[in-house]
Amino acid sequence: MFKKLKALFLAGSLILTFNGCSKDDDGIECELIPFNAFTVSQDRELGMQVEAQIAAAPIEYPIMPEQGNEAAYAYLRNIRDKILNSGNVKNKDNFEWKLYLIKDDNTLNAFCTPGGYIYVYTGLIKFLDTEDDLAGVIGHEIAHADKRHSSKSMTTQYGVDAVLKIVLGNGDPNLLTQIASQLGTLKYSRCHETEADAASVDYLSGTSYRCNGAATFFEKLKSMGGANTPTFLSTHPSPDNRVEDINKRAADKGCRTTGSTSDPGYQTFKNSL
Ligand SMILES: [Zn+2]
Repeated sequence: MFKKLKALFLAGSLILTFNGCSKDDDGIECELIPFNAFTVSQDRELGMQVEAQIAAAPIEYPIMPEQGNEAAYAYLRNIRDKILNSGNVKNKDNFEWKLYLIKDDNTLNAFCTPGGYIYVYTGLIKFLDTEDDLAGVIGHEIAHADKRHSSKSMTTQYGVDAVLKIVLGNGDPNLLTQIASQLGTLKYSRCHETEADAASVDYLSGTSYRCNGAATFFEKLKSMGGANTPTFLSTHPSPDNRVEDINKRAADKGCRTTGSTSDPGYQTFKNSL
């Protein structure tokens, strides 16, 4: 049965390609086969599996408990909620959008699993200067989940056949677990990076934040110089002209690109970590 389905899907994708309709809403085309064999609920299931794996590895991922860090979590959730309520996050109501702080001041990174489990390292928060900058990076991470980049990449990596078997419930029962275990170290493609950068601007344009916070982050990274590549750049490869592209999209949208939100609040937040 799945062969028939696959044929249908492939035929569908070709038609889409020839019609030029395969581009996402944001006008950026990343996939040769614009098709994700995972369902939205399987993205959620994958995310739950990764969440469990991370929770079981406290040495590698020292998660700050909610208890005793209520104010820090509330601060972060406020940023998340402004982005989710921007009206521009397609899977706002489909995914979990659960937040975790990882206590590691030396790691400059954030990541988001399929299904919307967002992990932010204290090293990233302390590196940034304003809430707007952090909103830019969180917007970028939310975009990877919202645009379903990981499951699209997995569809390409494992092939439509293997993934469709899982979708239809007759696949290798270990494969989903195996896939979940790789997601933490999955490297995004440059095209997915471009798409996440653009989405960050689109999301923030519907909030009170400056909408090019992601660009400020990359500018600051660049100014650090080359010796140590921050973890963020090893899992999020840097496309060319990233800062220019973000600023151009912001200019095209006519959204705010200067000033910052609640700097005293951000300092207090940083000091509490
Ligand atoms: Zn990225």
